[in-house]
Amino acid sequence: ATPVAIMVGTGKGAQLGILYKSAEALETAHTVDTVVLDKTGTLTQGRPVVTDVAAQAPFTEAELLQTAAALEKPSEHPLAQAVLQYAEEHGVAPAAAEKFEAVPGRGVHAQLNGTMYSAGNAAWMAACGADVSVLEAQVHHMAETGKTPLYFAKGNQLMGVIAAADPVKPTSKAAVEALRHMGLSVVMLTGDNRRTAEAIRTQLGIDRAVAEVLPQDKEREVRALQESGHKVAMVGDGINDAPALTRADVGLAIGAGTDVAIASADVVLMKSDLLDAVSAIELSRAVIRNVK
Ligand code: ADP
Ligand code: MG
Repeated sequence: ATPVAIMVGTGKGAQLGILYKSAEALETAHTVDTVVLDKTGTLTQGRPVVTDVAAQAPFTEAELLQTAAALEKPSEHPLAQAVLQYAEEHGVAPAAAEKFEAVPGRGVHAQLNGTMYSAGNAAWMAACGADVSVLEAQVHHMAETGKTPLYFAKGNQLMGVIAAADPVKPTSKAAVEALRHMGLSVVMLTGDNRRTAEAIRTQLGIDRAVAEVLPQDKEREVRALQESGHKVAMVGDGINDAPALTRADVGLAIGAGTDVAIASADVVLMKSDLLDAVSAIELSRAVIRNVK
């Protein structure tokens, strides 16, 4: 594109709250054939809310909630915030845990009164030796409605499950639809479990969901698409998304996202609206069309 076309395109973008960090970003965006979207905080609000608390006998709901609050208190994960919010609303003050450790993409563990407890997904429970099969039917139901189940265990004894729902943003569905209309293939990447991911994928009309992706593996998913010949745009907001945003042919950061994501992206969506990812690609197409 000519310098004038780039200037006009960049200016038009700025008016819309779409910041192209370079001329190259504006010129490359029209070449993408695949758009990879992070789920939490990009397609969804990123502020999950607890919807269900199910204790497993002999544990009571009160014990489960007390344990959950204590374990999640030191965690910075949005799911931990949801548990703490719920605990607070139910008058549960979190006890102080010891030897807290977070395992990215899996969960946490910590000691309470000298006993090790853990919280997290099914894979993490398996790693902690806790059998979750008694809750299978209940958990499947939660996941099929798009909720994320969090398991809690005392040693290797399952205490129960807490489900959290993270509502999709109002414009996510329209944005996915528009991207598909432009002939782009839409892929969702998430650390969440398969069933929950599938529920959100169906709800939003997304072509493909890659679930249970460890935070450090998001970049590899983008690279695999590129190696099979695709030009990839990636949209994300989290620290975990930063390497994938850098790797993508065009990385787009949600403006309300983390500083690291914004620093790693080629384009910043100031209004944090996924419809602006659509506009960002359309604008690039328009700029290229006008100079040909
Ligand atoms: P996402 O892509 O949804 O942000 P993460 O990679 O952060 O997912 O986490 C993947 C999964 O690990 C979560 O869906 C949850 O089941 C589990 N997990 C992570 N951190 C915690 C935590 N603090 N408490 C309970 N579960 C957790
Ligand atoms: Mg995110």
